Amino acid sequence: MKPLHALVIGAGIGGTAAAIALRRAGLDVSLFEQTMAQREVGAGIQISPNASRLLRRYGLADAMARAAVRPAAVVFRRWQDGRVLGREELGDVLEDRYGSPYYHFHRADLIALLADAFGRKEIKLGRRLINVEQDDSGVTAHFDDGTSARGDLLIGADGIHSRVRECLFGEEKPRFSGQIAYRGLAPVERVAHLGLPLDVTNWVGPGGHFVHYFVAAGRFLNFVAVSEAATWTREQWSDRGSISDAVKIYEGWHPQIATILNAVDETFKWALFDRNPFPEWTQGRIALLGDACHPMLPFMAQGAAQAIEDGAALAACLKHAAFDIPSAFRAYVTLRKPRATEVQERSRANSISFHMPDGPQQVERDHVLATRGVRGSPEAMNRLYGYDAEAVAATLEEKP
Ligand SMILES: Cc1cc2nc3c(=O)[nH]c(=O)nc-3n(C[C@H](O)[C@H](O)[C@H](O)COP(=O)(O)OP(=O)(O)OC[C@H]3O[C@@H](n4cnc5c(N)ncnc54)[C@H](O)[C@@H]3O)c2cc1C
Repeated sequence: MKPLHALVIGAGIGGTAAAIALRRAGLDVSLFEQTMAQREVGAGIQISPNASRLLRRYGLADAMARAAVRPAAVVFRRWQDGRVLGREELGDVLEDRYGSPYYHFHRADLIALLADAFGRKEIKLGRRLINVEQDDSGVTAHFDDGTSARGDLLIGADGIHSRVRECLFGEEKPRFSGQIAYRGLAPVERVAHLGLPLDVTNWVGPGGHFVHYFVAAGRFLNFVAVSEAATWTREQWSDRGSISDAVKIYEGWHPQIATILNAVDETFKWALFDRNPFPEWTQGRIALLGDACHPMLPFMAQGAAQAIEDGAALAACLKHAAFDIPSAFRAYVTLRKPRATEVQERSRANSISFHMPDGPQQVERDHVLATRGVRGSPEAMNRLYGYDAEAVAATLEEKP
């Protein structure tokens, strides 16, 4: 039987990982990207075991171990004096518990190793999707260079401003969450005097938080500085930021934060957008994944991890439904929607918890961090990191 041909739109982390998974499941895959070179922002990304286990299965174990940093622990600290509020092991303990490591990457390294696994030359660059059409026998993607492509199914992995979603369900602008993030990378020699451990450190305080961790095999310290802002006036959702503006936001916080901010050459500023869960993820021969259908605030460090899970689940559902597209897409939505929605909601809740002003609620939060764990209860962590998207998809298919 001729394999199904999948058109994947968007070669970000979600789309490229999905393209690998779909090919592994036996499909022919064409991967389209609007930019002329696969791009990722100059920043870090955390990849938890629920995603790293899938990427290892795609043959990326050695490449990931070479490119990434394996953090020792996650530590929460108080904004003013740096008091440790809670700490949890991430290194061997987490790897033993969940069978796969927790990693920190430079985004460019992660996208490069995914691109290599799919085949860099096979990614069709400079192809911006403008429209999709489907009928009984297939789906056609139209691109702004006047070309088109025909396949059996199409996966919209084109991010938070998804054109695929817009073509199917109409325009719906994301909501500005009232929070902005500065991000940057400090060369490690400029922060060496701080003697920072290989932890991911999250400073929490009134109206903001500040996260830092090492990336790029330890060559850079990555930071994400989130604060509240009433408006975001520019049309673009990311912009070059001023280091002195970022330093000003953290006046009164522990001096280590200003030291890290002042160690970078440039910083970028993001508006953080949020959406309620979308009701529809598929239509006919078209399915959405990643930020295209469940964009989330980054406070669980799970947006890319969930996109990677989506691709694995989609491929497994197609395989186990004997490539019957409607049944596979039904199974995909049944599996993925509750899980992604839960992570979206937990991410949103963290923005309240991380930004509490000092007072009785903050004291209670600190008690929870010290006693129950900094990433939620053990059960919640098991649900998140212990999950195997491929294995779960295989189980679902066996049910009538
Ligand atoms: C500050 C911050 C920190 C974060 N930290 C983490 C973290 O630590 N861990 C984690 O798991 N997640 C994290 N995330 C979330 C994560 O970055 C996203 O969820 C993830 O990148 C989404 O991947 P995606 O492939 O769905 O979309 P995207 O990364 O947006 O990729 C979409 C791709 O589609 C292309 N495209 C768009 N439109 C078209 C078109 N019309 N035609 C063709 N191509 C198109 C784009 O150019 C892009 O390459 C963070 C996010 C932010 C903002």
